[in-house]
Amino acid sequence: MAWDFATDPGFEEKLTWAREFVRDEIYPLEVLDLDHEGFRRVAAPLQEQVKANGLWAAHLDPELGGQGYGQLKLGLLHEVLGTSELAPFVFGCQAPDSGNAELIAVAGTPAQRERWMRPLLDGELLSAFAMTEQGTGSDPRQLTTSARLEGGEEGGEWVIEGRKWCVGNAGRSDFHIVMAVTDPDADPYHRMSMIIVPTTAPGIEVRELGLMNDPNHDMPVWSHAEVGYHDVRVPAENLLGGRGEAFTLAQKRLGPGRIHHCMRWIGVCRRAFDMLCERAVSVDVHGGPLADKQTVQNWVADSAAAIEAARLLTLKAAWTIDQVGASAARTEIAMIKYYGAAVLHDVIDRAIQVHGSLGFSTDMPLEQMYRWARAARIYDGPDEVHRVTVARRLLRNYRPTLPPTEHIPTRRAAALETFRERFDAQAVQ
Ligand SMILES: Cc1cc2nc3c(=O)[nH]c(=O)nc-3n(C[C@H](O)[C@H](O)[C@H](O)COP(=O)(O)OP(=O)(O)OC[C@H]3O[C@@H](n4cnc5c(N)ncnc54)[C@H](O)[C@@H]3O)c2cc1C
Repeated sequence: MAWDFATDPGFEEKLTWAREFVRDEIYPLEVLDLDHEGFRRVAAPLQEQVKANGLWAAHLDPELGGQGYGQLKLGLLHEVLGTSELAPFVFGCQAPDSGNAELIAVAGTPAQRERWMRPLLDGELLSAFAMTEQGTGSDPRQLTTSARLEGGEEGGEWVIEGRKWCVGNAGRSDFHIVMAVTDPDADPYHRMSMIIVPTTAPGIEVRELGLMNDPNHDMPVWSHAEVGYHDVRVPAENLLGGRGEAFTLAQKRLGPGRIHHCMRWIGVCRRAFDMLCERAVSVDVHGGPLADKQTVQNWVADSAAAIEAARLLTLKAAWTIDQVGASAARTEIAMIKYYGAAVLHDVIDRAIQVHGSLGFSTDMPLEQMYRWARAARIYDGPDEVHRVTVARRLLRNYRPTLPPTEHIPTRRAAALETFRERFDAQAVQ
């Protein structure tokens, strides 16, 4: 197997176009204080340009209306898109819609694909993924929202009852994919199913949440809400995938999604890193530029190394998914989540520090980046859970061994036994 870190030249051209497009057409929108509707209006003609350049909804296979790039190329694209919070929406691959389209592509019936996935891909609908319940998000086996089938699979309906928490775009979307307990007596991994719930269904109550990065819930792309489902009724055919398959489907959705998150974080890191370096060479204090102070040099050097390490780890996970599938990449996928989130935090933190009070002020985008970065340690499963996954999987390769395999007196005795005839016993005492 050859090692090759080069990007295919044809795709590199697309990345170059995307880089310039994001910088020239999307960065300026960030400072216009657009609301959601205003942003969608401004984004529409830009989305047409993205489509014309073959980069729209790049996460799906061509037969499903996407580009079929695979995770490695997608990762490289998300690195570019991550530099602006607004960019994924303009490229038709924003969370949670991209993951939801993938879910319906994998598990949906032809009718579900036509009704929900196609318009989602075309940017005509928005969606939400309603899984978390407050306090048990990191252990979905404890989720309690229920769905009861009334009237049978032919012509019957699901009756949904429960409460979800921190659901992205719940209040702005056309449908939710809800994880609910449909088979309470099954084992914990087969109790839940996914159900497509149109937001026009009576009984859905949405309370918008203020978040650390969005206290007034007025961000142009995302909002987050607590959602109550009270006697919400949807047709039986809205079941997505098989009964009890929600866990398996969620894993399918979240694995590749994490690559995209982590590569977007690398994009954010790059932007913060550029600000850090520009400031370091621009300001003189105590007799010389900040760039000459060893602490600042350490920040530059450590940040560059950490960004590169997180990037390569993420690309390796993406490459592994492309070669042998997501389950073979589970360790790397979990690793990049907590490693990448820490790098993201540290690089933005140093960039703020080098700007002093200017960095802390809203005259620079760093304080907003910092508040959003804090969420990275929590969403998509908290870091702690991913660390547990990695440690458990790695520890499976070890067996209890006493004395330790590397115990020197034991090894020495074995080596003497093996090499007795070759050595002069005197020489190795
Ligand atoms: C910005 C943002 C967007 C989100 N969007 C969505 C969305 O669209 N849809 C959705 O369904 N959910 C969404 N979530 C929810 C998210 O998935 C959950 O917050 C996450 O899974 C953690 O669940 P929890 O908040 O209930 O934490 P809890 O389960 O209450 O855990 C709290 C803390 O306990 C500790 N902990 C938990 N398990 C372990 C363990 N095994 N070992 C050690 N410590 C542990 C961790 O420190 C953890 O942070 C979003 C969250 C955020 C912040």
